[in-house]
Amino acid sequence: MHANVAPKKEDEDTEVESATVLLVDDQPVIGLIVRKMLSSDANIAFHECNDATSAIDTARHCHPTVILQDLDMPGANGLDLVMAYRSIPELRNIPIIVLSSNDEPAMKKAAFAIGANDYLVKLPEPIELMARVRYHSRSYVALLQRDSAYRALHESQMMLRQSNLELQRLTNSDGLTGLANRRYFNTYMGEAWSTSEKDGSVLSMLMIDVDYFKLYNDTLGHLAGDDALQRVAQAVQDALVEPMSLAARFGGEEFTVILPLIDAEAACGVGERVRRGVEALGIPHPSVAGANVTVSIGVASMTATASTRSTDLIAVADARLYCAKYDGRNRVVGAD
Ligand code: GH3
Ligand code: MG
Ligand code: MG
Repeated sequence: MHANVAPKKEDEDTEVESATVLLVDDQPVIGLIVRKMLSSDANIAFHECNDATSAIDTARHCHPTVILQDLDMPGANGLDLVMAYRSIPELRNIPIIVLSSNDEPAMKKAAFAIGANDYLVKLPEPIELMARVRYHSRSYVALLQRDSAYRALHESQMMLRQSNLELQRLTNSDGLTGLANRRYFNTYMGEAWSTSEKDGSVLSMLMIDVDYFKLYNDTLGHLAGDDALQRVAQAVQDALVEPMSLAARFGGEEFTVILPLIDAEAACGVGERVRRGVEALGIPHPSVAGANVTVSIGVASMTATASTRSTDLIAVADARLYCAKYDGRNRVVGAD
């Protein structure tokens, strides 16, 4: 079944008032009469099917906005056909006006029970037929338009949601390395600090700085420098396995890692993994033959209290980073 085949003209405003009628009746003479009755309205397109077995296919092809359905047809029961239309998604909502010579209430009841929208006894007055065709057609077209507007609205909502997510990602990430940027570092640190204070849990961080990076840049150029920074950033990220850890670019050639719930010893272990990961990149450094790009790392751990600030934690990590530099670089310092 073709659930998504849209009936013709659903989006065309100019066609709002037009109707497409499909008459399913085995008697060609009924077709002639009905065609004549409807011919006074140029906006009504008329199709006819005299063979019950091809009614479904015809309906699929001509996209009627109203079906006029005979009940008594050779080889088919009109009621079965009504049920068949109702079981096919693309035809399900097309209004069906039963057009029958049978005037018995029981038959009308049966027709309405299985989903007919209207019932006319053959042959109706032209004005009545025309009025009902127009009425049902108009409400069907309105339904299609409403569905299509709803779909368009839903699609634009999805696109808006996508763009917002993308915008949020861009707002929070560093353009060069793809790590979190300083803004998101601040946000994440603020949240981690509050949690630490509320829960009395430990919070650690790494302050990471690339060694002798000015020389690298000055010798090999800024583009090579950018490339090296991207690879270092990736190595920092790759060294993290702690579920709540966040790697960020703090600025320039400095990176940080926030490690909620990780104590000092474990944080030094993370720092050592980062240090080794960067060294293992094997990016040649122009300082001495055989040297590679390395990082120095300061590690700090605290449990937040009412009288401390997250900047205290950053200051300790920073001070230890400078110890690492002073002690010879390419090392992790986790204690004073
Ligand atoms: P130290 O080992 O003491 O950290 O020495 P250093 O040369 O790394 O330190 P310094 O702070 O003197 O130099 C940092 C250099 O990092 C300066 C600048 O050339 C480079 N840098 C900072 N941001 C970027 C960047 O976005 N791209 C590139 N290519 N270089 C950057
Ligand atoms: Mg620096
Ligand atoms: Mg540096």
